[in-house]
Amino acid sequence: MKYISTRGEAPVLEFGDVLLAGMATDGGLYVPDEWPAQPSLPVGATYAEMATALMAPYVSPSLGEDVFGTMVAEAYATFGHPDVCPVREIDDGLFLLELFWGPTIAFKDVALQLVGRLFDHELTARGERATIVVATSGDTGSAAIEACRGRASLDIVVLHPAGRVSDVQRKQMTTVHEPNVHNVAVDGTFDDCQDLVKAMFADTAFRSDVRLSAMNSINWARVMAQVVYYVTAARTVGAGDPVAYSVPTGNFGNVFAGWVARRTGTPISQLVVGSNSNDILTRWLATGVMEQTGVHPTISPSMDIQVSSNAERLLFELYERNPLVLADRMTEFRAEGRVETGDTRLATVTEVFDGASVDDDATRAEIRRTHDRTGVVVDPHTAVGVAAARAARRDRDVPMVCLATAHPAKFPDAVEAAIGIRPELPAHLADLFDREESYDNLPGDLATLQAYVKAKITS
Ligand SMILES: *Cc1c(COP(=O)(O)O)cnc(C)c1O
Repeated sequence: MKYISTRGEAPVLEFGDVLLAGMATDGGLYVPDEWPAQPSLPVGATYAEMATALMAPYVSPSLGEDVFGTMVAEAYATFGHPDVCPVREIDDGLFLLELFWGPTIAFKDVALQLVGRLFDHELTARGERATIVVATSGDTGSAAIEACRGRASLDIVVLHPAGRVSDVQRKQMTTVHEPNVHNVAVDGTFDDCQDLVKAMFADTAFRSDVRLSAMNSINWARVMAQVVYYVTAARTVGAGDPVAYSVPTGNFGNVFAGWVARRTGTPISQLVVGSNSNDILTRWLATGVMEQTGVHPTISPSMDIQVSSNAERLLFELYERNPLVLADRMTEFRAEGRVETGDTRLATVTEVFDGASVDDDATRAEIRRTHDRTGVVVDPHTAVGVAAARAARRDRDVPMVCLATAHPAKFPDAVEAAIGIRPELPAHLADLFDREESYDNLPGDLATLQAYVKAKITS
């Protein structure tokens, strides 16, 4: 498998290099040069075995199936459920795909537990070290820290927007006291943090100086690992017949993985993009205009974004993989904060994608409604997906699988406000609030942050 950049100006790479590069040198995102057909999966296989088989084409020839299979097995052994990503019916034809059984109780563990191991393997094989810099709106940070902590080949610096992540989210990041873990509360929004990370990557001298690398959702390996559960859940629920998915969406990495599953052979009839009131994507699906506005803080903070980076991968497909057109469009979007994709092009997207935006009141109402009807307690992100599914479902005879992206105990205040029940943290996190925190407060200024990174890392 070879990988190409969506902007067409970066070198064509194999998996190992794509993994470590994160973003392409031309500012684009790496995608496979061709979509492979899914291999047939053995009956009775475990999640890890299916994951190994499904991802094998993407990691070849960088990684052999034995070495890769061991890493996959180790990654998913950290999960607290034997099915890893279990699926259960909560209402008539409505399913929850639970993606929160990993160490940080949110779906980003599914990709990052594997990606941390892949990084360590690849760097150790090369005799190299890397610095991971991550911008987080909450969940990526702790999941990336759990993926990197104590690994000899890595330093990790995590930028979170000060005061804009939940207490549980912050403590999951700042109570990890490993010498290779560095947390920064940045004065600004998540998009400011993300822009700072992008600016660090754009500074080629700095980038090579600290051997910068990214585990953000732009990293292809993350998308790849997320494709797996769309395939396994469709088999469980649909047994070969079409299924629909509803996905609480921020950076578009998760739902894009659903598109890849469909593109490579899984029968998926509909992908519902659920957004909170940061609704750039659902407005785009409705109007064909992708236009950024300010970020509004919501009770589903992991989706408080202004720009959905992974949408570039879908736009690349929309422009028939023409990197010149795409690069033009992305430049236009960057300059004007707005880009129009046109009716006929949009039709190829809306053939499978629908969108629904759910504000905080409707999110709380959905937490209540789901609890009243089914007895199940969902977190606010999951509730956005469930409400979007109810609003945008096309065919009641097709099973609808809602992605449960976080454990409700990760957002106890919002859940308690909705149903008067304060969900408890699972046993491995029960003493989280007794653990000591450490992090640095810094302004959202590039030079300051670059100096900080240089000072903190092991060379
Ligand atoms: C990151 C995250 C999302 C959004 O996923 P994207 O891949 O960014 O679209 C949704 N819910 C939770 C709980 C998350 O952590």
